[in-house]
Amino acid sequence: MSASRLELATCESRERALLAPYAMRSVDSEGREREEPEHPYRGPFQRDRDRILHSSAFRRLSGKMQVFTGERGDYHRTRLTHTHEVASIARTLGRSLQLNEDLIEALAFFHDIGHPPFGHAGEDALDECLREHGGFSHNAYGLTIARQLETRYDEHPGLNLSKEVLACQETRIDKMTGPAPLLEAQIVDLADSMTYDAHDTDDAVKLGLVTIDELADLKLVRDTLDQARHRLGSGLEPYRLRKALVHGLIDRQVSSLLTTATEVLGERRFSHAREVTESGFRLEHQPDLASEKEKLESFLYQRVYRHPELIEMRSRAQSRLAALFGAFLNAADMLSPKYRDRAEQVGMHRAVGDYLAGMTDRYCNETFEQIIGAKSS
Ligand code: MG
Repeated sequence: MSASRLELATCESRERALLAPYAMRSVDSEGREREEPEHPYRGPFQRDRDRILHSSAFRRLSGKMQVFTGERGDYHRTRLTHTHEVASIARTLGRSLQLNEDLIEALAFFHDIGHPPFGHAGEDALDECLREHGGFSHNAYGLTIARQLETRYDEHPGLNLSKEVLACQETRIDKMTGPAPLLEAQIVDLADSMTYDAHDTDDAVKLGLVTIDELADLKLVRDTLDQARHRLGSGLEPYRLRKALVHGLIDRQVSSLLTTATEVLGERRFSHAREVTESGFRLEHQPDLASEKEKLESFLYQRVYRHPELIEMRSRAQSRLAALFGAFLNAADMLSPKYRDRAEQVGMHRAVGDYLAGMTDRYCNETFEQIIGAKSS
């Protein structure tokens, strides 16, 4: 008697069994900008996720700062660990809501891929350098990476991602006009803010920029701490309290959003992902939590992001990028052949901006020391 051969599970059958009607299904994908045959056992969004994960821009996120640079030790988040935390929280939300987890993971891995060195400080510096040439934004640069700069495949430039992943990134650039993003994209954006609220709080306390007592003036923090003390006892050492605060903040936000989402999605009864986007529906936090989150974010803005130490880092990073921009603009021969070719297609200003934006913080500092540091000494 011969054993019958096991059938490989197809993406379509898995999604049919697992996804809610409002989720984005792979069979409904509009395909890629350059047509490609389907993969025998990986769905289109799973391939997107894998292409992003294997890109060099994704790996370089490990050398790009989230809020604090590497000079501040190695406890705090980098752009890469932030990205993985976002993906993890977004997957939890997506799985509970029966959304497409492959698409969620692809979008989460992609969401910060266009960040230049030194985070928003670097972004502002490059935007200033390119003011007369269309400006710079990390969201638009993410699309440039995906469409043109990655060179992993002989068949096409870029990663040739699905049109859905590219469209979700486009809605980040043009936020409030046009149809609403897919629920998978909305979940990633919500997870992004939950993640940075929690981990920036953690990093700021660990690095001594703020104290837990100061944070406890905020209702969201106070309630979360009360819950932790109730569960773990009142005599917690400060480091245990900090850790309990971080996962408590995430848990409160995720649980609250799931309660709101199940209620509102139950009422709306969307029968297709297209209905969600065409209706302009946007998933939001419950109003009390949204207002408490806003207060935490404005506290973090005032006390952490505008901390004198960060302002000084910001201005040092900006002057370095501006100096490097000027230096490369005047010396095309310092660019690699890839970016000299690019200058012929998009002009020297944009090519230099693209080159600098791809650098890690460390590489940017080293290049500055080699080129400018040598001149000024
Ligand atoms: Mg982010």
